[in-house]
Amino acid sequence: MKRLLFALILLAMAVPVQAEWFQRTESIMGTRIYVELWHDDASAATQLMQAVMDEMHRIDELMSPYKDTAQLAIVNRDAASRPVAVTPELFDLIVRSNHFSDLSGGAFDITFASLGHQFDYRQSVKPDKQHQQQATALINYKALQLDSKAHTVFFPKAGMRIDLGGIAKGYAVDNAIRILQQAGVTNGIVTAGGDSRLLGDHRGRPWMMGIKHPRGESHVVSLPLENVALSTSGDYERYFEADGVRYHHIIDPKKGDSAREVVSATIIADDATTSDALSTTLFILGVSKGLELVNRMQNVSAILIDNKGKIHYSADLAPPTASGL
Ligand code: ADP
Ligand code: MG
Repeated sequence: MKRLLFALILLAMAVPVQAEWFQRTESIMGTRIYVELWHDDASAATQLMQAVMDEMHRIDELMSPYKDTAQLAIVNRDAASRPVAVTPELFDLIVRSNHFSDLSGGAFDITFASLGHQFDYRQSVKPDKQHQQQATALINYKALQLDSKAHTVFFPKAGMRIDLGGIAKGYAVDNAIRILQQAGVTNGIVTAGGDSRLLGDHRGRPWMMGIKHPRGESHVVSLPLENVALSTSGDYERYFEADGVRYHHIIDPKKGDSAREVVSATIIADDATTSDALSTTLFILGVSKGLELVNRMQNVSAILIDNKGKIHYSADLAPPTASGL
């Protein structure tokens, strides 16, 4: 008996532990959340995927503009009448957002919501000209009064609002990736809508990440990537058409209207908070200003599709030539 047990132990030691891919998809934050990871323990993998989903729920509960109990919603309700204290985490993300505003000359601006909240893309609702102009005048991140000691937010004017929809999903993806990394996962992907971050490669080969055609389901570009974040902003996610004009969810603060020079903006960066904020930013800045910004930055690449369907690349990405096809 003893000998048999010994033989069995030896056998167990000799058989390599079987690792495999685990995947899970859920709908959180109004979008599709996907996690895939490589693991040798099914129950540990299941727990980790749950931890990723829990983190998405946590960010949603904190930063949703739609949930009455979310701190961000409370800021929007009360900050014009009193400074509203928020968690250091939410405060820091507001500060990081304002950094992207500085970087982009105000193209990225979380106070876009002063106007943005007057649109309902599902119901095809938009403000009339007068309300549109009044709300546009309230867009100005520099007017936000932020107290970095008390972590309070104050709006100097009634009607101001903020929304982290251009950065929060990327931030949540970064947090989720950190959870996986801390648990020792070396290969995986976390996606929240148009924002993804890759951990390692796809076991010996790169992850193939497609950029969707903005007017169809096919992919216009497929990119072999590893260990980076990738975000795409498109005008096809939330929009309606009125009088032949497409009204969608990315707002140019200077025009007080949807940005229309490009129809898809993709950013590759080291982290998803950066790629998310910059994809929204470049969508607004358009081809020449947008690429100029990215070409000045380290470790950031861009692929833009303009409203004629032409693809533009940042200087570091060699455009595919006809001879290379
Ligand atoms: P999504 O994955 O939701 O399509 P994007 O990264 O493409 O997100 O960003 C779009 C979101 O960014 C909008 O839904 C809105 O919440 C927010 N947004 C729109 N205009 C601006 C702006 N000028 N500055 C910052 N955020 C914006
Ligand atoms: Mg974005």
